[in-house]
Amino acid sequence: MRILLVEDDTKLIEELRPRLQRAGYAVEVATDGEDGAFLGSEELFDAVVLDLGLPRLPGLEVLKQWRAQGNLVPVLILTARDTWNERVDGLKAGADDYLGKPFHPEELMARLEALIRRRHGQATHLLSAGGLTLDPDRQQVRAGDEEWQPLTGIEFRLLRYLMMNADRVLSKTELSEHVYEEERLRDSNVIEVYINRLRQRFGRGLIETRRGQGYRLPSAKDDA
Ligand code: CA
Repeated sequence: MRILLVEDDTKLIEELRPRLQRAGYAVEVATDGEDGAFLGSEELFDAVVLDLGLPRLPGLEVLKQWRAQGNLVPVLILTARDTWNERVDGLKAGADDYLGKPFHPEELMARLEALIRRRHGQATHLLSAGGLTLDPDRQQVRAGDEEWQPLTGIEFRLLRYLMMNADRVLSKTELSEHVYEEERLRDSNVIEVYINRLRQRFGRGLIETRRGQGYRLPSAKDDA
């Protein structure tokens, strides 16, 4: 899952970035409205955290630009405390949720996760697909009603993205963009290695290979 954080408060960035990373998100940061607007138009994110008070271009304008372009990325706006009119303007401009500052980071994490989950039609906190159940908080998975098993950071990021996008064919490029933050780490061979590791752990049928296209995790488990 890839998150864009548009925020000019460096202290807040320093607080949020490691939390988001620990929760398995690849995080991109923009510290002003123009950069944020550009990144959000040019690249694909699973959700955006958008501060409204930004240098160069106000957050509300950034949001309006995206929506005018037909960009439907889930957006959570950060507003100043006690500014109900800002929240109303934000929601009218197409924000999916809001949080007033100051907020507890745990609440931001929970709201973000709920936004992404809703976008992918997942009703509950635990993700289910391909005969597996994934617990994003504990970064554990289980097959059917077997024992919970821990996942490494990359296994978790990859499996969550595949399960959230079950039945869709995902290219290696898309997968590596949503697993790694830094371009220098993006190597599609590494994705292949991790796909194979997941298959070894949870069965060959878990993930299909589409030649020349990528990978697909079928939502219903194929027992054949
Ligand atoms: Ca600000």
